[in-house]
Amino acid sequence: MAKEDRFTSKYFALDRLAEGVWATLSTGRMAFSNAGIIDIGGRTLVFDALNTPSGGADLCAAAEALTGRRPAVLINSHWHDDHYLGNQAFPAETPILCTTRTRELIIESIDELLEEIPAYVEITEKELADLRAKRESEQDAAARAALDTEIWLTEKFLAEAPNIAPRIPDQTFEKQVTFYGEQRRAELITFGRGHTDSDAILWLPDDGIVFAGDLLFCGRYPWAGHSDPGAWLERFDDLDRLAPAVVVPGHGPLATPAAFDDSRTFLKVLQGAFDDLIAGRLSVDDIDKITVPPEIAHIPGDATRYQNNLRELYEQANPAPGS
Ligand SMILES: [Zn+2]
Repeated sequence: MAKEDRFTSKYFALDRLAEGVWATLSTGRMAFSNAGIIDIGGRTLVFDALNTPSGGADLCAAAEALTGRRPAVLINSHWHDDHYLGNQAFPAETPILCTTRTRELIIESIDELLEEIPAYVEITEKELADLRAKRESEQDAAARAALDTEIWLTEKFLAEAPNIAPRIPDQTFEKQVTFYGEQRRAELITFGRGHTDSDAILWLPDDGIVFAGDLLFCGRYPWAGHSDPGAWLERFDDLDRLAPAVVVPGHGPLATPAAFDDSRTFLKVLQGAFDDLIAGRLSVDDIDKITVPPEIAHIPGDATRYQNNLRELYEQANPAPGS
């Protein structure tokens, strides 16, 4: 892996994984998720679009600067907005490709997403006020500089809100699309349900690199609220069968298949607690009293994230009347 000097973003870090293959790794809230830029030889692919229009614009600019051409295709790995709100920053002539089911899920969820923006802005404004207050009293120069960066990113993030006009993917596939380039082959594959009802990965067999989207969260608790934990466990078996040397997760640092173990453990523990809820051995009202189970205590994360995963899974299985 090498640091990339040909393009620098204020929003993400670039890692060159092979000649013509880069991962963009999150360094803050303007590019909350990871993405990929792949020059297959003659054509440039971009895997995922980040969570903000400005982040997406920088990703598109990076693809052009690094490969010398505009992206031929932008891929959306799944329907969560932290992977597609950057779509609108890509040229209109760049097709956006995802699975048929993901396109349906984006369309189904878009009204709710737009309705939630004012509440989200309010939360972020409060976070910004807290950051500024912290900056006022901070004595340490390095900590102050870090807070300045965080404040700048939060201000940028708030400025994005009025500009959000989600662009819906305009091409779909069912199971697999293979891109044949002069330099490499890229296989866009969905194995079906997992983190969501439909997740796509991009596999580069000549390089042993897989862009896993949110099938992998590395060094943190996964978000499993819209998942099928049992199916997701099978997806790790599918990814293992590819035997990748490098796995680019949707969130967190670059990984190898060894990183699947923590996610497997997390999902098994979560599934166990979910089964307890369904069987009545655990009450929904007690979810917020649950502490982090010892099997997953070594994974960075807190009880609230674990509880939110469980609550969302339960609500998904038992929707409130009228919803
Ligand atoms: Zn995500």
